[in-house]
Amino acid sequence: MLPVIALIGRPNVGKSTLFNRLTQTRDALVADYPGLTRDRQYGIGRLGDCAYIVVDTGGLSGADSGVEMLMERQVRQAIAEADHLVFLVDARDGCMSGDFAIAAELRRTGKPLTLAVNKIDGHDPHLICAEFHSLGVGDPHPIAANDGRGVLKLLDSLCAHWMAAADELTAEVSAGPDDAGIRIAVVGRPNVGKSTLINRLLGEERVIAADSPGTTRDSVFIPFTINERQYTLIDTAGVRRRGKVVDLIEKFSIIKTLQAIDACHVAILVLDAASGISEQDASLAAQLIESGRALVIAINKWDGLLPERRLQIKEDIARKLAFLDFAEQHRISALHGSGVGLLLEAAERAFANATRDLPTPLLTRLLAETVQEHPPPLVHGHRIKLRYAHQGGRNPPLIIIHGNQTDAVPDSYRRYLINRFRSRLDIKGTPLRLEFKSGS
Ligand code: GDP
Ligand code: GDP
Repeated sequence: MLPVIALIGRPNVGKSTLFNRLTQTRDALVADYPGLTRDRQYGIGRLGDCAYIVVDTGGLSGADSGVEMLMERQVRQAIAEADHLVFLVDARDGCMSGDFAIAAELRRTGKPLTLAVNKIDGHDPHLICAEFHSLGVGDPHPIAANDGRGVLKLLDSLCAHWMAAADELTAEVSAGPDDAGIRIAVVGRPNVGKSTLINRLLGEERVIAADSPGTTRDSVFIPFTINERQYTLIDTAGVRRRGKVVDLIEKFSIIKTLQAIDACHVAILVLDAASGISEQDASLAAQLIESGRALVIAINKWDGLLPERRLQIKEDIARKLAFLDFAEQHRISALHGSGVGLLLEAAERAFANATRDLPTPLLTRLLAETVQEHPPPLVHGHRIKLRYAHQGGRNPPLIIIHGNQTDAVPDSYRRYLINRFRSRLDIKGTPLRLEFKSGS
């Protein structure tokens, strides 16, 4: 599972700026619980071989209500779920009383903790860092989140911390993906019916394998067999803990969702036909596209809907989630079981498509036909030349196209190529990626 870094500190010390630099994405997931503030951001970041989840914990004020704020359940949960805490302070403000309150609170968690002193631009880093030793949370790392100074060094030191642990986990997780069948993550916002669906999938007629040793602690990997086919479900809904009292916040964890997306072969995105398509559905969907995972869409709670409502929800999905139109859609009732049986077959199809071999002669022939039907535009009077194509990767399929002046290929033409390749190769259920290489 991806390690989780939580960014913690008073307002305005630069957490969001650092978050953006660490994730380099605009697709941050924002926590959206009814009745709670929406000030936590989540994103996946990568540095070389090191991938991680970053959480911007938002507004700890520290100064006046620091401890109370820290006690806020959502911040506490972010801290509890984090593998590493990055405590951010502001070089320009110097050491504030709020910082001491936060430091004390963070030390108490016993979690690995790194102190980063931000906004060192225009200062002597050594001089400015000296006073922050008094926080008693170790050596300060000088950074400037806005221009990136020191950030790579900070990340390097973080990565070194968890590389060993990550290797161990990877070994555990990858111990048997082949024997354990494809890994399927059931994801969706709270109350769409994930737990109901997972229980339905694991229904009593199926053989549920015993937990593998070592994974029982907070087991999210559930191996099971249907029709002699082996699968592993990744539980993001806390089904395994249903005996305990879990409230909404504990039950739905964006971190677990991101980790499940990262660890799965195929994701089943559950939507709620009764309540409609929300912003959070769309932002989860965007995250799924970015991950490149094979995808099946389950439109749940189809039971008991009036015909006009059904029509409306179909239109809603086509409009708001148009970018998922490559994925199979299944209208299901997790409650009554209708349609559920088809989901696993759809997941298998999606995975088969995502891992297909695409021979170079076939790709190159399709490229030639596609270009002939509709040639690329002229650039400064010269036509962009696309010469041949080959497969650069699987899951998701990557097609690499070689040619001249490929930097000038407009987005619209790139989309045209992707659509043509998709339909001619009949690739469904997986994102399809295209990369250009210029020969000259
Ligand atoms: P947050 O409230 O902790 O999330 O802080 P923000 O990321 O919103 O940053 C607060 C302010 O500090 C913004 O105006 C940023 O542009 C600025 N800022 C962030 N990082 C740096 C930095 O490294 N140097 C300087 N000079 N300003 C920074
Ligand atoms: P989760 O938060 O995504 O795990 O959602 P749950 O599985 O806990 O379901 C939330 C609520 O939706 C519960 O009251 C379920 O009984 C209800 N629900 C789940 N699936 C269906 C369905 O197919 N039809 C209807 N009508 N209700 C459902």
